[in-house]
Amino acid sequence: MSGTMKKLAAAYAAEVIKNRRYLHAHPELSFHETNTAQWIRDHLAAIGIPTLSGITGNSTVGVLKGTQPGPSIGFRADIDALGLTEMNDLPYKSTHPGIMHACGHDAHTAVLMAMAEIFASHRELVHGTIYFVFQQGEEFLPGGAQQLVKDGIMDRIDYMFAWHAAALEKVGTVDVAAGVREAAVGTYDIKITGKGGHGGFPHKANNPVIPAAELVSAINLIPALKCDPLENCTVSVSYFQCGVDGVANVIPERVSMGGNARVLNTDLRDFVMKEIERLAKAICAAHQCQCDVSLVYGYPANTIDATCNDIFRKAAASMGLTVLDNPPVLGAEDFAYYAQKKPAGIAKLGMADPTGAIAPTSHHNPCFYIDDEKGLPLALEYMLTVYETALQELM
Ligand SMILES: [Zn+2]
Ligand SMILES: [Zn+2]
Repeated sequence: MSGTMKKLAAAYAAEVIKNRRYLHAHPELSFHETNTAQWIRDHLAAIGIPTLSGITGNSTVGVLKGTQPGPSIGFRADIDALGLTEMNDLPYKSTHPGIMHACGHDAHTAVLMAMAEIFASHRELVHGTIYFVFQQGEEFLPGGAQQLVKDGIMDRIDYMFAWHAAALEKVGTVDVAAGVREAAVGTYDIKITGKGGHGGFPHKANNPVIPAAELVSAINLIPALKCDPLENCTVSVSYFQCGVDGVANVIPERVSMGGNARVLNTDLRDFVMKEIERLAKAICAAHQCQCDVSLVYGYPANTIDATCNDIFRKAAASMGLTVLDNPPVLGAEDFAYYAQKKPAGIAKLGMADPTGAIAPTSHHNPCFYIDDEKGLPLALEYMLTVYETALQELM
């Protein structure tokens, strides 16, 4: 089979770039990807791939049974964009004001669709079943993956693979490693109510800014004082609102504050979240203020399976890609929900040409850019090779 995947990827290179640019020009926000979902469903129907029923929202799962026995392997692409306005001047720039594919999910979707097209017309290459998982809402809690797990897809899938564009890494690199790769996240929102009043009569009021200010320090000390120093944990206070700008003689009634916690250990994330709530209640009680705390437990830590990692590395070696050993990051990825159920892995493929006309720019930035002409044919070949390698390793 050697060389087959390379030839197939080359044959679909123009198609994958064209589709990625179409999707890039028509981005949709998380859980609002109705046109993107229709585009996906129309394409799958046109190539004769049936979809699973009972899948919620804008997610779509195509199912392709091969002509030979083998494992059930899932490939996942997230399909959502972000709420920001593109600042790149490209012929295919976003046509939807305030929405942009600034994380590369358009590229993931286009590559997965090309894989579906290739395997639909080469069923002899498919052993067992391939599930093409087009997932809504990766960027926005609670994420689309959790719902797909609830819809039962991981009962069918033995191994799940995905790739993510890495906008700052060079084309030809792949970042894969086993173990925890992304953080467990949680967000908190705290409303502190005191008693408003006149600045000249503080004893007749109860200023909620005082416990809120203490709480800012207390929250920031959790990683230093309450977590094992060998763990990776960070907390942020991301908003803090009270009073009226410029109005100096009014003690405010209320403070609204919140932020997030990111930890490479899901249990420790749970502890940090509860600690934020405990501190908020204790400090507010000491100042006789009322305190309402809302906690949202986000994605768990994303843990890559050793067998999947091995498959990723063998596929990279067979293509001569440079394997990076980048450390884990405190970003988050809802792929973690699949990895909680079955062996799963996500590889990060370099999409940058440092000598290109547009400088590599980070994800979620209005100038986010990937070199799709160089990067996408390689991403397609890599994921086809991952499938080929998986069959060799798993059968
Ligand atoms: Zn993102
Ligand atoms: Zn992303």
